[in-house]
Amino acid sequence: GRVDYRTDQKFADHMKDKSEASSEFAKKKTLLEQRQYLPIFAVRQQLLNIIRDNSIVIVVGETGSGKTTQLTQYLHEDGYTSYGMVGCTQPRRVAAMSVAKRVSEELGSNLGEEVGYAIRFEDCTSEKTVIKYMTDGILLRESLRESDLDHYSAVIMDEAHERSLNTDVLFGLLREVVSRRSDLKLIVTSATMDSDKFAAFFGNVPIFHIPGRTFPVDILFSKTPQEDYVEAAVKQALQIHLSGMGGDILIFMPGQEDIEVTSDQIVERLEDLESAPPLTVLPIYSQLPSDLQAKIFQKAPDGVRKCIVATNIAETSLTVDGIMFVVDAGYCKLKVFNPRIGMDALQVYPISQANANQRAGRAGRTGPGQCYRLYTQSAFKNEMLTTTIPEIQRTNLANVVLLLKSLGVQDLLLFHFMDPPPEDNMLNSMYQLWILGALDNTGSLTPTGRLMVEFPLDPALSKMLIVSCDMGCSADILIIVSMLSVPAIFYRPKGREEESDQVREKFSVPESDHLTYLNVYLQWKNNNYSSIWCNEHFIHTKAMRKLTCLCGWVFQVREVRIGDSLFGMGYTPDYITYHELVMTTKEYMQCVTAVDGEWLAELGPMFYSVKQAGKSRMENRRRAKEEITNMEEEMSLAEQQLRSRRED
Ligand code: ADP
Ligand code: MG
Repeated sequence: GRVDYRTDQKFADHMKDKSEASSEFAKKKTLLEQRQYLPIFAVRQQLLNIIRDNSIVIVVGETGSGKTTQLTQYLHEDGYTSYGMVGCTQPRRVAAMSVAKRVSEELGSNLGEEVGYAIRFEDCTSEKTVIKYMTDGILLRESLRESDLDHYSAVIMDEAHERSLNTDVLFGLLREVVSRRSDLKLIVTSATMDSDKFAAFFGNVPIFHIPGRTFPVDILFSKTPQEDYVEAAVKQALQIHLSGMGGDILIFMPGQEDIEVTSDQIVERLEDLESAPPLTVLPIYSQLPSDLQAKIFQKAPDGVRKCIVATNIAETSLTVDGIMFVVDAGYCKLKVFNPRIGMDALQVYPISQANANQRAGRAGRTGPGQCYRLYTQSAFKNEMLTTTIPEIQRTNLANVVLLLKSLGVQDLLLFHFMDPPPEDNMLNSMYQLWILGALDNTGSLTPTGRLMVEFPLDPALSKMLIVSCDMGCSADILIIVSMLSVPAIFYRPKGREEESDQVREKFSVPESDHLTYLNVYLQWKNNNYSSIWCNEHFIHTKAMRKLTCLCGWVFQVREVRIGDSLFGMGYTPDYITYHELVMTTKEYMQCVTAVDGEWLAELGPMFYSVKQAGKSRMENRRRAKEEITNMEEEMSLAEQQLRSRRED
């Protein structure tokens, strides 16, 4: 019995290994076939040749041609990883994670081994890693520690057309690194044809075009402007779905809320219809948990149509095969500096013509397609910008200033930007850093500023963390800051909205969302960091697990002048502080805490003081203004001195 049993077991194991190996082979084979079908494969050797002969190459190719997933592997196969990693930067964290996963599968290894990724607060790489996908912010931070990026033999700056703030800063830095390191390859990829500018910036470097394989896309404009693009998109998607034409649908919406409403509406209205064909509705946006994000790539069962509802993440960063219909609402969310409040606000804006054309292109990858634009042709022609204004020209630069100062770039106006930011933005950001105590009156980094650079956080949050040490509350502040830095913690499943709201109430600290967050964490800790506890309380376990590390809000304090109670607690505080301002049709402050006026006087004496005898609020304002003017004068004097020194 025993021997037989063993033999049987051995045999079974053997067969299991064999069948696993062969199914593994089948999988690899199809993945390999998929790789070889990509347009980039046809020009693989030419690409490798041009990269061998040049330090910097611009690579242009349609979305889906294989730039992101293949270039890293080609460089690996060609031996570049024998003396350093091949790094590939992405403006979006979702893309970095999703692409790394895909490439690790194509290479037949586990994610985090040969192929890994790094995004803020999450490093999924190891000693073994030779291909590393990361956000552009990560590479920027790495350049702080290792200014020549010695760990890398090649860097691919992907999605350069996006012109993200960090990519633009990296452009300037990497240009210098390449001039110092002749063994480093820099490849800049773009989905659009505006690559001449990139080539000129890097010193007339070669541009390599990947021949495209695209099908015609019919563009259909709305005849009249749409009042409600969500409603219009829902109707359009249903019409396509019920028309009997085959192919998947991709809907572009500006953000999470619109995506959720659109998805729910489509599902609801289909349920009301009798004998409607099945449809899988899949949302995707950056805050969506990654296991749900991955669903957009899964093949729907035979005969079931997929309808993906996405932000502009699906414009060029992620390619989903099989899309035949695009429905384009015509809007996106952009971070834009708002001079009125002195900080960035996330706001919904019309997309540019370049975005619109990219979106339409998604319908023509696997066959002829159709793109329904929910705006008029005249709006497209007359109201949309040709291309989006680069982030560096429209957002707060505090982080960039801090980073460049700490890299020893004294004169920021001299830094080699492809499109320099407006001087006003630069000065405004320097002013904010001065308020936070990161810069002194001459615009040089203070010891506090030097410390602040160490944290991968907004300067205001770094400052808060530093100050909390002196105040003996760093453990609590660390938790709050981390909670603000991970994607959404609470979720509200469909059909259980009330239940989840009630559970959430249990954590509520009426006067402060920040303390509510702290409360959530402490209760989770009391429950031994249990994931069951998270599920019971509608909290994302993954987001909670990400909380690893982590009194600059003074500047963000605003006087509240709202009639109704903010917190549903029957009183309106005089002052509040908030984490983020979001603008849709209304302004929303996200994550709010009531603030005692006295604290402001203590922590921000240059702006606030407690009304004393003989000192009116007007007087305080005047004094604050005076101080600011002084500081601005000193700074512009310093800049002038620098400039005249440069001219000498
Ligand atoms: P590009 O960067 O030129 O836009 P990619 O390299 O991203 O092109 O995509 C090439 C192919 O890989 C596409 O056909 C796409 O569908 C596939 N692909 C990319 N990421 C994934 C993923 N996470 N899951 C499945 N397929 C993917
Ligand atoms: Mg790509």
